[in-house]
Amino acid sequence: MGKAAVSIHADTFQFFTRNPRGTRAKEIKTEDVERFLKLADAHAITPVLAHAPYILNACSKDERLRNLARDTMADDLNRMEYIPGNMYNFHPGCHVGQGVETGISYISQMLNQIIKPGQHTVILLETMAGKGSEIGGRFEELREIMDRVEYKSHVGVCLDTCHVWDGGYDIARHLDQVITEFDRIIGLNNLKAIHLNDSRNPLGSRKDRHAKIGEGFIGLEALARVVRHPALRKLPFYLETPNELDGYAREIGLMRKEWEKDS
Ligand code: FE
Ligand code: FE
Ligand code: ZN
Repeated sequence: MGKAAVSIHADTFQFFTRNPRGTRAKEIKTEDVERFLKLADAHAITPVLAHAPYILNACSKDERLRNLARDTMADDLNRMEYIPGNMYNFHPGCHVGQGVETGISYISQMLNQIIKPGQHTVILLETMAGKGSEIGGRFEELREIMDRVEYKSHVGVCLDTCHVWDGGYDIARHLDQVITEFDRIIGLNNLKAIHLNDSRNPLGSRKDRHAKIGEGFIGLEALARVVRHPALRKLPFYLETPNELDGYAREIGLMRKEWEKDS
């Protein structure tokens, strides 16, 4: 993955810790870790963002599934210590009819069980589209989870542009307002990463279908304002657009050109 990132002139990347729809993971080989650390150092690739499997649900009704989420994430965090100083992003979960309050309490309990005071990885809660019973479609919900976490310096937020748009935050017409609201509720100091995606659906649709940059309802100009925004421009941006490698190369070039306009 590191080599692919270098080949398209990326200076960071996101990866899945294991099959996004499963939970099995490969053994870690020390040679691989060393090779990656060298490559990352040579090409200034930092920070990398790991993404937890989608299927995990920390606030499932089923205790076995909650435990699976906890154990898988704890294992991922142990693995992340091989490449310290990076970040681990996860979808807070779906409360599946138990209510937001119950969901939030399960999620924060899990975080308190897996976070070790000395760990070198920051865990990111992802802003969600609010599809179905997803938690994290409102900034207040993420705030509530963070408030209940004991080691607060080990958690932060990853803002997904498609998700917040689908959740009803108008980043195309009112970016400053959305950022102000984020700051008031969560705090910009807790914003650690951006998932940069266009959306296949209009504002507030709660669908979560990503589009290529400039081919969705958010649009190229609005996403260019996101990468250039003074409160955001120093953050790492990760594309999750439906592309192959050449498409990512094109979008990175496109967004970097916009980013450079203001530097
Ligand atoms: Fe995600
Ligand atoms: Fe995302
Ligand atoms: Zn998504």
